[in-house]
This record gives sequence, C-alpha cells and structure tokens, in this order.
Amino acid sequence: MRKKIVAGNWKMNKTLEEAGALAAEVMGMVADEVKGNVRVVFCVPFPYLLPIKNQVGNNTRIAVGAQNCSEHEAGAYTGEVSAAMLRSMGIPYVILGHSERRQYFGEDGKLLAKKVDIALKYGLTPIFCCGEPLDVREKNEHEKLVKQQVEEALFHLDSASLEKVVIAYEPVWAIGTGKTASAQQAQDMHAIIRRHLASKYDKSVADNISILYGGSVNAANAKELFASADVDGGLVGGASLKSREFTEIIKAIG
Ligand code: PEP
Repeated sequence: MRKKIVAGNWKMNKTLEEAGALAAEVMGMVADEVKGNVRVVFCVPFPYLLPIKNQVGNNTRIAVGAQNCSEHEAGAYTGEVSAAMLRSMGIPYVILGHSERRQYFGEDGKLLAKKVDIALKYGLTPIFCCGEPLDVREKNEHEKLVKQQVEEALFHLDSASLEKVVIAYEPVWAIGTGKTASAQQAQDMHAIIRRHLASKYDKSVADNISILYGGSVNAANAKELFASADVDGGLVGGASLKSREFTEIIKAIG
C-alpha cells in the first residue's frame, strides 16, 4: 500500500513568528478533524526547519521537510545546505527539482540525479518534482518530457532506492497560476509515470511509489484531483500558507 501524502511547500514565505502560528493552526485542525491515514509534510524554509520540527515534536502524522539540498557532501559552498546537515537535524523529507529551482537556479536532470543520490545516502526521502511547461504541453510533448525528467534523475537507482522516493507531478503551467490540471490530465500523467517506472523496474515497485499532484491545488479542487487511482496526494504551494485551506486539502484525501 503506498502512502498518502499532502506536502505544503511554503517556499520563501512567512516570518518565523508567522510560520510558527501557521504550523500550530494546522496541527490543531489536523488533530481535531483529520481521521484518515495521511502523512502531512511542512516543507519550510531552511532557517525554520528546527523550530518547526521542535514544534511538531513527536506528532506521528506531521513531518518537516526542506525545499532543496546541495549535491555536494560538505565544504566550501557558501550558502548551501547539505543532506548530511538535514539528516543531523532529523529532517526526513526534501523537495528536489522543483520547477522554480529548475527555472531560476538552472537545475537539470544530471544535477538532480546527484541530489537524489546524496539525499538517499543520508536517509532522506526525496520528493522529486517533474512536469512540463505550457509550450511543451501545447506541442503535445509533455509525456516525452516528463518521462525524460524521471529517467534522468531516477533511473540510475536500484529498485530498493527508487522505492524510497516520492514523485510529484507538477505541470509548470499550473504552479501558482490558479490554473489546475483537470483530474483526468493529472491521472493520465500519473499513470504514464507509473507505467514508465514499471517498464524499467517492475509493476510491484511502481505500485509502491507515491505520486503526488501539484499545481494550484486548493480546497475546492482537491477532492476531485485526489480521487483518481494514481494520485496519492498533493504538493501544495500557495494554499499551504492558509491553515484552513490547507487542512481542507488534507481532509480531501484523509
Ligand atoms: C508548488 O510550489 O509546488 C505548487 C504546486 O504551488 P501552487 O500550489 O501555488 O501552484
């Protein structure tokens, strides 16, 4: 049985105080209202990892994740944060390959393969993002591109390592735009990714991997998106910054 996950990507938002208030509100609502078996992840800015982790404490439903890590082990890389550091802080998740990192920081498949390796080496669960920009979808080349993104960053892994990865399909045209993929578009691409994993590994490996949808998920559309067979939850940006909205999204799967 693969895990159901709703991860909030807070990006570069909130002061420390606001971050603490958001976490507290969501934690309270999840405790009171979420019945099902869903893992919630707060993917917070680096400086907030430890305070938010301490706040979450030993809550078994909620975990804390980073939004990136370095491809390097350690050393003279000013401003970077290593997988080993995250591990030493007890952080279990790290988003890798978010489209904003690909677009603004030039991250490509080769680099992401290294980041995936180092994250796994230090026992972190990568939430690996893939997804096509609008022009690629308009040319009907989205399937080819997303398969290629998955191949470049993940296909060098053995199946035991691959099974530790969470994939997030995030069509770039839907991120932060208010434009969501239809439930059918999301399901189609998730099934394509899963079949592609099955063709390289095998069906049981592919069936064990959680594939999240991301791109303008909100309280109104989450239930329909999460109802699809191959959609195992969501990676949520803007709506994860509002406690009530984010909790409703969690409830849509839990
Ligand atoms: C994201 O940043 O991963 C994301 C999906 O953002 P939004 O939900 O705001 O589209």
